[in-house]
Amino acid sequence: MFYIDPVTCVDCGACESLCPVDAIYKSRWVPSDEQEFIAINEEATDQLDESGRGSAREIDDHPVIAATPQLP
Ligand code: SF4
Repeated sequence: MFYIDPVTCVDCGACESLCPVDAIYKSRWVPSDEQEFIAINEEATDQLDESGRGSAREIDDHPVIAATPQLP
């Protein structure tokens, strides 16, 4: 699973078109029924220390995401 670091993200939206399931939105456009994922994303990225910010690295899935069936 990919997470977006809310500390380093500048909300430019450049990654929106790269998601194959249209799951990325600028923060102000996150649908009301997906608002919970903002906090889930923040909790998952809390694992990053300063050396991990701004880089692509693997982190543990948030428990809610880990329990969610993944697309094939
Ligand atoms: S490309 Fe996506 S993750 Fe990177 S700064 Fe822009 S909106 Fe944030």
